Amino acid sequence: MKKYAVLGMDVEDWFHLDYFLDEKCDISQNTLDGIEIYLDLLKDYKIKTTFFVVGEIVVKIQNILKRIIEEGHEIALHSYHHRRPLSMSPDEFIEDTRKSVEIIKNTLGYDVKGFRAPCFSLDRQRLDILRTFGLRYDASKINFGNHALYGNLEVNDYQKIAEDIFKKEDFYEFETSTVELFGKNIPVSGGGYLRILPWKLTQYLMSVFLKTKKNYFFYIHPFEFSRNYNIVIPENTKAITKFRFNHGRKSVEKKMHRLIKILNKNNYEFVKFEDLLEKF
Ligand SMILES: [Zn+2]
Repeated sequence: MKKYAVLGMDVEDWFHLDYFLDEKCDISQNTLDGIEIYLDLLKDYKIKTTFFVVGEIVVKIQNILKRIIEEGHEIALHSYHHRRPLSMSPDEFIEDTRKSVEIIKNTLGYDVKGFRAPCFSLDRQRLDILRTFGLRYDASKINFGNHALYGNLEVNDYQKIAEDIFKKEDFYEFETSTVELFGKNIPVSGGGYLRILPWKLTQYLMSVFLKTKKNYFFYIHPFEFSRNYNIVIPENTKAITKFRFNHGRKSVEKKMHRLIKILNKNNYEFVKFEDLLEKF
């Protein structure tokens, strides 16, 4: 069976990260140059992908978003303010989603099909809300109980149509890639893990992952690709958060090339999420 890779980007700025959300951040600094650096890299490999965009920056980055569309990529939702859906009431989530759909439609004339929740924070009630907006898929499922903020999305009545794709009527749920090691599920699919883990370890985790039948659903963020390395983060930021934010940013591009080479060598076909709606 053919395997697919989606090298998606969650388009948000550095201060949208959950660990800075309640802090006083100097938002005059931005890391959105990372979007175009990533676009250039994708172009070199002729890879098309999905960009999940935070609603409140759509107008500000509309020219980049136009480039994304022109180059054949897909735009999807990543909430309006990057608040976790599980921290919102259902009514607030409806309003947040409505605003996100509208800002993209009004600014770019573009109809979105998909959603990914900040921090994979989604439950079944909110998933069903997404369907009322006519969306075709969600990509917020991850099997990783070790992370305090991640939700646990239950889709038991969905049909499992691939290792990591679930379907109900015409709606799809995509599960972000993890690998099982010593009985635990470890993500092999996020920019943070790519940056922070030593390459040898990533390489090993990928070798275990490649033995599975899974597709590869990956996500990265603009700040991870940004060359603005001197962001002044809030003073009271904990050392561990500083490390999570900054570590490996200068080497991530090099690692990304290596990751793409591994996927290429293993015959993955690079697609956008919306392409998979036709294939499954
Ligand atoms: Zn996000």
